[in-house]
Amino acid sequence: MKKKPKGPENTVSDKQPPKQANVPEAKAFELDKEQATLLRRVFSGAIGFLKSAPALEFLPEPTVPEVTFAGRSNVGKSTLINALTNRNGLARTSNTPGRTQELNFFDVGDPITFRIVDMPGYGFAKAPVKTVKKWRFLINDYLRGRQVLRRAFVLIDSRHGVKEVDREVMQMLDEAAVSYRIVLTKTDKIKDNERVKVLAETELEARKHTAAHPEVIMTSSEKKFGIDQLRAAVLEAVEI
Ligand code: GDP
Repeated sequence: MKKKPKGPENTVSDKQPPKQANVPEAKAFELDKEQATLLRRVFSGAIGFLKSAPALEFLPEPTVPEVTFAGRSNVGKSTLINALTNRNGLARTSNTPGRTQELNFFDVGDPITFRIVDMPGYGFAKAPVKTVKKWRFLINDYLRGRQVLRRAFVLIDSRHGVKEVDREVMQMLDEAAVSYRIVLTKTDKIKDNERVKVLAETELEARKHTAAHPEVIMTSSEKKFGIDQLRAAVLEAVEI
């Protein structure tokens, strides 16, 4: 049964730490007043967990647009979804790698306007072959068959950059013709010069993929950096 959407735990902040805003290669992102009001209204409004789908037959009716978040296990996906939606416990953090093989659906708005879909993490070292295969089938079917899917956000740990396993997922998205945007996570953990380097490398990688947006979003859930830019990218994808 559908759970009642929960309210926000605190209000949306536009605060951006000056340190990262000074990174020369990071393109400045500024919200106008109207956009800021819209972001606050959407992401401080009703957002609630709808259901987990371990297989395609459990997907909710495709009645509203969806955006999905993908990334290697431990990339910071749950933490980022919680920062994005301004809730502490919406997406469960520190999942046991390999245990969660489900697509988690979150309803945004009351009445609902779009859904956020949390994909199971991939790339954990000791995953059994069976688990990896199951992941590929579920994700491929979802990506290829979901007409309401507007965009995927592929999360990359800024300390590690794009790995082979990320490239495979990007290729799946290219082949399924699902437009996607790369998001660097945990940028508070690296130095300014490393940030510049990983951003340039990741944008170079993005340009090699047919379905990837050429501009990469840099985020830190810890410092709340890049969160409004990500929110704006989500709303743009669902055309709000
Ligand atoms: P998931 O497996 O992708 O859902 O990853 P989690 O969201 O559970 O995060 C994995 C670990 O990275 C946790 O210990 C988080 O506290 C940490 N983490 C996530 N985001 C950030 C961030 O922006 N900065 C820092 N410093 N740590 C982060």
